[in-house]
Amino acid sequence: MHITRVAVYKADIPLVAPFRIALGVTEVAENFFVKIETDEGVCGWGEGSPFPAIVGETQATCLAAARDMARLLIGKDPLDIEARLGELSSFLPHNTTARSAFDMALYDILGKAAELPLFRLFGGSPRDLYTDDTIGIDSPKNMAEKARELKEKGFSAIKVKLGTAPAEDIARVRAIREAIGPGIPIRVDANQGWDLPSAVTVLTAIEEFGVQYCEQPVAAGDLASMRTVRKSTRIPIMADESLFDVYDALALVQNEACDYFNIKLSKAGGLHMATKIAAVAEAARLGCMVGCMSETRLALTAAAHLAAARPVIRFFDLDSALTHTVDPILGGMEYREGGRIELPAGPGLGAEVDPAFLEKLESFTVSSP
Ligand code: MG
Repeated sequence: MHITRVAVYKADIPLVAPFRIALGVTEVAENFFVKIETDEGVCGWGEGSPFPAIVGETQATCLAAARDMARLLIGKDPLDIEARLGELSSFLPHNTTARSAFDMALYDILGKAAELPLFRLFGGSPRDLYTDDTIGIDSPKNMAEKARELKEKGFSAIKVKLGTAPAEDIARVRAIREAIGPGIPIRVDANQGWDLPSAVTVLTAIEEFGVQYCEQPVAAGDLASMRTVRKSTRIPIMADESLFDVYDALALVQNEACDYFNIKLSKAGGLHMATKIAAVAEAARLGCMVGCMSETRLALTAAAHLAAARPVIRFFDLDSALTHTVDPILGGMEYREGGRIELPAGPGLGAEVDPAFLEKLESFTVSSP
């Protein structure tokens, strides 16, 4: 089998409402899709959703990178994933979101060739995954109102974006806990918004509000402060922006900088690296969450397949498609009652982009000469 053609699509997906985190406001998910075709008629789908302030990529850089990556893949064996991803990452290091879309498409082809859904290919079962839903930064009153709605919808955990002034953040968590009562875990995410003293102030103040863990309290590269924050609070610390690849995972463990990892395909460069991060987590006896940027159900399906196959992934934050005004994906994971995620049974990802949606998109193709 060899790769004959790659098509790349620019896909802008407006959000239902602007979504604010400590790093900025998102109104449109500026994503892209990749379709890899082969001489045997099997094709694979991938998606990237670059969050510029985290990954250092934009939709425009991803599209430019994708053109060059596609040229590198033409004529080659899509099933030799180790070699293909090695070539992509030595040609263009970093650029993890761009690479993740190709990684996903290659695994989709592998699964289809093996006639197995990806969770089976990774040795897993279709176990129940329950995603949380996330509340963006807003006034304590509005955030509490949203939390009440999520409780009524039956979500088993609520994620809350923080990372502004300490007094405001404490007021947000207090208001939310008062609104939803005890029982449902609150997960908070500062997205690097605090300095060390602010992080310690907020986390020690919100310990009484039933906080399950805190993502990325301080700057991504500051593992010393991550460690100090961790030693200063009973709330477990989860590394997100500090963790892209398996090398970061090892450094976080060696520095005793976190209790949990947040694995995202867009940071890891796809499933291939994500499985390695999960292995480091197992060795270090850390738990993992699988997270997202603003992907459609296509890339979320890839993440859900991985999560189903790796019990070390205990927390699920795959809620981005709930915030989109359009859902252009056929098949794929489905959201059920209370945030339960149901995986597709078909081979590979079990998801593709609706051809009617693709027709409206700007695109380019790279093919065999
Ligand atoms: Mg995060």
